[in-house]
Amino acid sequence: MSETEIIYADNAATTRPDPEAVKAMEPYFTTRYGNAASQYYDMGRQAKMALEESRAQLAALIGASPEELYFTAGATESNNWVLHSAALTGKKKHVVTSAVEHHAVLEPLEFLKKHGLAEYTVLPVDSLGRVDPGELKKAIREDTGLVSIMHANNEIGTIEPIRELAAIARDRGVPFHTDACQTVGKIRVDVGDLGVDMLSLSAHKFHGPKGVGALYLKRGTRLAPFLHGGGQENNRRAGTSNVPGAVGMGKAAELSAKHIDDGPRQSAMIEEIWKGVSAAIPRIRRNGDPETRIPNLLSVCVEGAEGEAILGYLNMSGIQVSSGSACTSGSLEPSHVLLACGVPVEIAHGSIRITLGHENPDGDAAKIVAAMPKVVARLREMSVTWHE
Ligand SMILES: *Cc1c(COP(=O)(O)O)cnc(C)c1O
Repeated sequence: MSETEIIYADNAATTRPDPEAVKAMEPYFTTRYGNAASQYYDMGRQAKMALEESRAQLAALIGASPEELYFTAGATESNNWVLHSAALTGKKKHVVTSAVEHHAVLEPLEFLKKHGLAEYTVLPVDSLGRVDPGELKKAIREDTGLVSIMHANNEIGTIEPIRELAAIARDRGVPFHTDACQTVGKIRVDVGDLGVDMLSLSAHKFHGPKGVGALYLKRGTRLAPFLHGGGQENNRRAGTSNVPGAVGMGKAAELSAKHIDDGPRQSAMIEEIWKGVSAAIPRIRRNGDPETRIPNLLSVCVEGAEGEAILGYLNMSGIQVSSGSACTSGSLEPSHVLLACGVPVEIAHGSIRITLGHENPDGDAAKIVAAMPKVVARLREMSVTWHE
């Protein structure tokens, strides 16, 4: 199959690096490879200038000041930084989070708990994956030192009521962190408007390179370093600066400002896909909040067919989608997010996540609608349980 026939619809897992971002990075691999901390000669100073320009581009995207942004190796590091530092150096060791968080929040918390360094409370979600602000009010204790709730969910697309949740935490004097990997670059994200103290983001989710991200740390927020060593990033994140990565992320941030306007088109495509597949496939259900959601994501569960098998067949038709989270695929555990929404285990096994981007032409929706019912019918034909 030639490459042009392939439909890439797994943009929540990662996105194609924008060629302009790649081009912007190139000189920092080839000719301007100086260490941004070497300030006694031109090449080092050039690297430092590029780093700071990227910081400003990224800050502009989320309404922050450049000095409130710290470069990291991705959102997994940003999340670990927040959670570990809060638990290790904060006086209050209790964290409140939600049942639908990414593993990059839940696993560090589990690790900290296992080693007696933190305790945490997991807020439930309703059937659409929404956290109830009333539940947060009840969960905050005297010893709560942090609330961490994601902006939009990566498996079902539901946008959480961050403004309300952050206001509750603020009233109780508790710092609020959000993992915004699925919203930055896709919908407008403004840290001041959201009222958050900390926000994690990742470049490869908005057409930047992999292995680079950032943590927004509101001015005045206390957070001890996670990586110790050199004095980079204002003594808060040690390690030689990833200048090409930061440059690629900065460029992608600048470009994504215009891609945000493509959201309504992607959202219309998502509705077209849902309308098409729900009319053609019996016993299919939609996951997540159909209203308050990111524009590019559709998650469905198909009864009587394994998600992984559907993905395999769709791949043979040139359609690349996923079952939910790229981080858990390969494990046969059903998604913790779908289970938290009350989806029965048998049905959760048949989940499919379609995530579009600005590069998907309108015609991709019809192609997905044409392919999916055939694949599902074929799998159901072979399924013993479906016939029962
Ligand atoms: C992709 C993703 C991450 C992990 O980001 P990396 O930069 O790949 O470490 C964390 N949280 C969410 C919600 C994500 O979608």
